[in-house]
Amino acid sequence: MSLISAHMDVSEELKLLATAFDAHQPIAILDRNGTFIRVNQAFSKLTGYPGHQLKGHNVRMLRSKRHQEQFYRDIWQSLYDKGHWQGELWNQLKEREALHHVNITAVTDEAGHFTHYVAFYEDQSEIYYQQQLLEQKARQENTLSILLALCLEDLPMQAFLSQCRRQLELKNLWSWKQLALYTTDHSGLRTVIEHGDCTDQGCQKIPMTLSLCKQVAEHQIPRELKLKSESAGICILEETHTLYAIPLQQNQQSCVLVLSLPSDTLSSPVQKDFVHRVVHILGMGINKRATEQALIEAREKAEQANKAKSQLLSSVSHELRTPLNAILGFSQIMLSDGLNDEQRENAEEIHSSGQHLLTLINDILDLARMESGRINLQIESVPVRNIIDESISLIRQLASTRQITISIQHNLTDIPNILADKTRLKQVIVNLLSNAVKYNVDQGHIEVTLEQSDPAFLSVGVRDTGIGINPDYHSQMFQVFNRLGAEDSAVEGTGIGLAICKRLMQMMYGQISYQPAEPSGSIFTLDIPIASTTDRTEHHQSRFSILYIDNDPIRQQQIQTMLQQREDIRLFTENNASYALDLALKHSFDLILLDTDMPDLSAEEVLEILKASPRTATVPVVAINGTQDNSTISQSLKAGFNEYLPRPLDMEKLLLIIEQLQQEQHQLLLNTD
Ligand code: ADP
Repeated sequence: MSLISAHMDVSEELKLLATAFDAHQPIAILDRNGTFIRVNQAFSKLTGYPGHQLKGHNVRMLRSKRHQEQFYRDIWQSLYDKGHWQGELWNQLKEREALHHVNITAVTDEAGHFTHYVAFYEDQSEIYYQQQLLEQKARQENTLSILLALCLEDLPMQAFLSQCRRQLELKNLWSWKQLALYTTDHSGLRTVIEHGDCTDQGCQKIPMTLSLCKQVAEHQIPRELKLKSESAGICILEETHTLYAIPLQQNQQSCVLVLSLPSDTLSSPVQKDFVHRVVHILGMGINKRATEQALIEAREKAEQANKAKSQLLSSVSHELRTPLNAILGFSQIMLSDGLNDEQRENAEEIHSSGQHLLTLINDILDLARMESGRINLQIESVPVRNIIDESISLIRQLASTRQITISIQHNLTDIPNILADKTRLKQVIVNLLSNAVKYNVDQGHIEVTLEQSDPAFLSVGVRDTGIGINPDYHSQMFQVFNRLGAEDSAVEGTGIGLAICKRLMQMMYGQISYQPAEPSGSIFTLDIPIASTTDRTEHHQSRFSILYIDNDPIRQQQIQTMLQQREDIRLFTENNASYALDLALKHSFDLILLDTDMPDLSAEEVLEILKASPRTATVPVVAINGTQDNSTISQSLKAGFNEYLPRPLDMEKLLLIIEQLQQEQHQLLLNTD
């Protein structure tokens, strides 16, 4: 009985072992040399080899090229030493490569010698590929956010495209062979921007690009290419590469962005999605830049038209003045003759309208002369108080008709003489006073203030209690023919006065600025150089003066806003490089900030002139531009700029430069005192 039961136990145990062996975990039994003796079904399924194909073969047949010889040697070593090894292992299966977690245990005989090995396998490929996918997606997301930032940055087209390409290559997301942008019209192909190897000649060297170019050039643009960029992604297959032609809608032209990618780039849905999103961002970036370019061109055209308009105005105004003077003269003669009341009233109307017209023509002529630089000023040391008194007496009559009072306010014991052209400064102050009357309330007040917050400048303020200027218009202040919202009011005007004031103040090396008054009204302030302290050596204590040269009024406004809190800094802005040079050569600046894309003079020309004059040779000049690429930066520094600041302007960096210069100045003063 006990024998039978013992026999039953053994067969049950064997049955159990056999069942366990055929469980779904892949198991292989190898002899001490690594030859397959037995594998279970799960193992055959895993490897793709039926048991009889494995039997008698060495486990080496599954080796993958991913591991070095040493890796396998280490496994054997561990088995000899410890009778055990476990780890991750790539195997070459019948149809694919796979990553397995393998657990190998040695079987020993009674003498303790290894006789067999039992290996348990677990497929890790899915987890591995999922991980890879996640990592790839993370890299892609990161790249996309960098591309988006580049897209929004103030970079010119070429720099934008090359930086995008660098990013994609850097992340090794694909090997980007070429990136080219072609615009086409129905008559053929024009390369607007090309990058990589694709130029017109390059096309002949690169057949696949040639064929696309040809296709676009010779046939009319394929109809699908006129789609908007949202539906981008027309692929034209070419041997090993896929040309990815992305239609962009741009003005009236159809525009095709061509990417050349290895064909397998678009094989997986994840890659395809990524390419689509990259293309979308590129499309946005290109369209944005193309629109900006169109705006620049439009602005250049407008500037040219403006010049032509100034010339026309100047000559027409001359022609108008002659007959107008006759009208004024004859109406005056008429007024002195015996007229009845009605005739007198009519003649007076002719005379006053004529006067108004003459003022307007004179203003236009003045402005046209200033714009073309045909005006000479007599700058000399003058007592400012006299000019203010004379100006007020000219306006007092007009002010009293609306019961507006005028006062002068200052607490200077000694008012210094200023450097200015007497007549022109009076013209500016009269203009400000007349506006302060025109835009004031009845029974309002005007206060003229004198202040010297800077040893080098005297500030003359004209403050009124009127309606003030709507903040929406502040950035358009001093623009010619801009009435800043007053065009709908009953107040007559042309919008020329303030533009003339600004030009004249610049020509006198001064500055005009605006600030709203509290609780209501306006304050216009003139900063005029003081006669005795304009020499650099004499104004040790003066504020740090910066000349900012840029023809974009919004950017001028921005820097003004950013620096207005700094009482130790005085900012001068100029939108014309030639005027700016004039200003820089006559006034001592501590720092010059130059937008290197000024329309009238190149950055190199400006720098050359500044460096050639003893007065400006040592003034640090910082180049400012939207380009961020290293070659432009190093070129600028090589050309002689002290610093290069890319736009958007990093204010902290600018303040750091200012601080360093201030410290240097301070040190210099300590050494010379
Ligand atoms: P004009 O007075 O002939 O319109 P200006 O160039 O002198 O031209 O002024 C431009 C605009 O600025 C005016 O139309 C007006 O809207 C505004 N402005 C100027 N001075 C004042 C002021 N003191 N108060 C309110 N608005 C003013």
